[in-house]
Amino acid sequence: MKKWTNIAIAGSILSSITLSTIPLHADAMEKPNQIDRPQYQIDAKLDQKQHRIQASETVSFKNKYGQNLNDLVFHLYPDSYNKLETMSNMQAKPNTPEMLAEIKKKYPNVTEKDFLGDIEVKSVTIQGKKVSYTQEKQALKIQLATPLQPHQQIDVKIDFTVTIPFGFQRMNHRDGFYALTKWYPILSMYDPKVKKWDENPYHPDGESDYSDFSDYKMKLTVPKEMTVAATGIEKETIQQNEKIVQVDAPNVREFVFFASPHYTKETRKIAGTTVNSYYDKRNPQSKEISLTGLKSVEKAIPFFNQKFGQYDYPEFDIMETRVMGADMEYPTIIQMGEYSNEGANMSLVHELAHQWFYGMIGNNPYRDPALDESFTTFADMYFHEYDTKGKYGFKTHLSYSEKAIKGMSGAINRPLDQYPSSSDYNEYVYGKGYIALIDLYYKVGEKKFDQIMKTYFAQNKFTNATFANFFEAVHKIAGKEVKDYMEKAFTKPGYHPTHLIQPKKETKK
Ligand SMILES: [Zn+2]
Repeated sequence: MKKWTNIAIAGSILSSITLSTIPLHADAMEKPNQIDRPQYQIDAKLDQKQHRIQASETVSFKNKYGQNLNDLVFHLYPDSYNKLETMSNMQAKPNTPEMLAEIKKKYPNVTEKDFLGDIEVKSVTIQGKKVSYTQEKQALKIQLATPLQPHQQIDVKIDFTVTIPFGFQRMNHRDGFYALTKWYPILSMYDPKVKKWDENPYHPDGESDYSDFSDYKMKLTVPKEMTVAATGIEKETIQQNEKIVQVDAPNVREFVFFASPHYTKETRKIAGTTVNSYYDKRNPQSKEISLTGLKSVEKAIPFFNQKFGQYDYPEFDIMETRVMGADMEYPTIIQMGEYSNEGANMSLVHELAHQWFYGMIGNNPYRDPALDESFTTFADMYFHEYDTKGKYGFKTHLSYSEKAIKGMSGAINRPLDQYPSSSDYNEYVYGKGYIALIDLYYKVGEKKFDQIMKTYFAQNKFTNATFANFFEAVHKIAGKEVKDYMEKAFTKPGYHPTHLIQPKKETKK
């Protein structure tokens, strides 16, 4: 995610007033050590009049945690939209009378209730039998009648309805654009050490989606005039007034889709990846911004492939949507805001870089928020450093670092609920964490730095990594002293960066 830093949100509300047969990459499809990943089969229908999804999902899950499981926990993130306080602080929401008044200028009929959404679990069936469950604090909990033994498999079928909120948040509908993100019951992660499932709700600051690499298949029914783009590969057929979209998304951490009758797309083949940019076909500026964005992506995908490792999915989609305040990353697809001004592409490369740090290398963003955001911010600036030949890149933030870091003596990486405020979270994770990686870059030099990143990527691709995995890669390539230095930088208080400028090259005679 990246916040829109230089755009006044209220002001921008006012002013703004296929078929694919590409073979899946073998690597993304099958990893011999991960054939046990959960399998999701989702059958969903979008009701455009009610702004609802009716769906049924079957999750086949094999217990790979090495101990008996007495219960199962699924995250119900759509319930974070059932009140303003639990919605994301990163995106615009009508949480002040001024904001609501501003929104009503453009949407006079909208009521406060329209901004709320939720998920309602209708029934849970295990191995064909209905079972009891609880739904609270954004979690679905199912007590198992008999414990699930290691390597034993279970099929859980969940019927549910999602009410899609109107508005500006990452799951929303507005102006005929639908964003279905973190919208279905998603199996949580189990920690065998503490014998507990992760039950962290969606945190208003940052991100708290923590889930396993899984295989998704979805059959989605929408009105026939809608264009749908999703995580994975879409295939569509028309049946009378309806469009049936079949989606296949193997080996991804989560699954989202976007739909609108207003979408058209531009497609490019970039370094072996099919890149689709979907935008509002009614707006000439949307096309312009979409084309400009594709130009950056044409350079950035090969750069990241070379510096970190190959983008390992066949497709990447860029979506113009109605999110406002911060853009968002999801596996193989990113959610941009409305293309209404030149700043619209500002975080495009950042969201693309998340495909490496969040998408392919997963993490628990509640416990290790810096592991995806600091690395992504660095990757974004690393690209710009090259692309602008140093004009805009690392040095852009050095003045910030000099001033800001003096007052930031706490540890960069902590669990989300341990930053004193929203702005502290932002400054540590996006600011100081990124500076720590520049420090590493200049400390070891570009060659070694790239080797560290490549090693980290290769060893952790398609898994949920921790900082320990990163330090391991640092240790392997640059030795113990550098590893200890980075460990202190990210996990201990009192770190001050020492290598923030290019060391002067010795002149050779
Ligand atoms: Zn981000």
